[in-house]
Amino acid sequence: MARDGFDRDINYLRISLTDRCNLRCVYCMPTEGLTFFPDAELLSAEEIQRVVEAAAELGFRKVRLTGGEPLLRRDVVDIVRRIAAVPGIDDLAMTTNGLRLPELAVPLREAGLKRVNLHVDSLDPERVERLMRWSRHADLWAGVEAAEAAGFAPIKLNAVIARGYNDDDVVPLARLTLERDWAVRFIELMPLGSGEESRFAIDHYVPNAEVRATIEAELGPLEALVNRDPSDEARNYRAPGGRGRIGFISPVSQPYCGSCNRMRLTADGRFHLCLLHDDEIDLRSVLRAGGGRDAVREQLARAVAAKPTGHALAEGQHTELRRMHAIGG
Ligand code: SAM
Ligand code: SF4
Repeated sequence: MARDGFDRDINYLRISLTDRCNLRCVYCMPTEGLTFFPDAELLSAEEIQRVVEAAAELGFRKVRLTGGEPLLRRDVVDIVRRIAAVPGIDDLAMTTNGLRLPELAVPLREAGLKRVNLHVDSLDPERVERLMRWSRHADLWAGVEAAEAAGFAPIKLNAVIARGYNDDDVVPLARLTLERDWAVRFIELMPLGSGEESRFAIDHYVPNAEVRATIEAELGPLEALVNRDPSDEARNYRAPGGRGRIGFISPVSQPYCGSCNRMRLTADGRFHLCLLHDDEIDLRSVLRAGGGRDAVREQLARAVAAKPTGHALAEGQHTELRRMHAIGG
């Protein structure tokens, strides 16, 4: 078991497969001035497999693939197949904008992917284009339908709420849970990096208490649910008469650092010790120096031991070096 310096059991590895994306969500990526890692700097499928094998030996049980947009990796199905075959990994999930799911949902499921979280900020076509840019609502929705048709369950939708952009969408999004056994999760905007999207996050932040009050005013009081999954950062509720769940992920107003159980691996092979800190420990040089599972395990154990206790957003501290698309959320 991998325990960090604060006695947290770290058993959940989030792996970013690429820093590239086919969207440009306003709070995540600017439309100009970005540079991306060349392919040679990204961890290969074989290297990712070696990392997951070492992580499983250390007690990691859950892996989530993210990005950038993980479905842009040409070898994403191969990566899923390799990870799904690692003994000890009993949960393999992905966070995606879903745009490539119409062609990939079935192969991914057959390769062993268990769950997908889909990013849908609004049900209104114009607002989708304003907030997520480069996307149409119909394309996002085709991804959701492909995920459901391929048998991924429960479907989870992630919506990041930005004032003046989609704060009017929280009720229509929450209503999806009335008739469907889906989870709709509202995420508070976090300032990451030092670019324009970080300023945007600060200026358009909506606390989840407000999102909840808006939903309750329309749908009635939400019933609190017991979390089935300890690694779920959402506080979950059910609307009166609803089938699905409404979740609130509130890293800014209600930090959950005390129960954090995750380690992040960036696409260029660095352990990023906390989403909201810049500290990193390099793994790629270990892998490329021929390091086997033992060497990887030692480096991962070092990263776990060095995990910071929590973030200090309230004191104005945030990351400066990496943007969200380069960490993986
Ligand atoms: N491209 C995929 C997607 O959008 O789901 C995976 C990567 S994305 C960085 C992972 C998650 O981070 C998404 O749910 C997205 O909504 C969220 N996210 C991105 N920027 C954010 C920000 N500044 N604050 C809060 N959440 C953010
Ligand atoms: Fe792309 Fe996801 Fe960032 Fe949006 S949040 S720009 S879909 S990586």
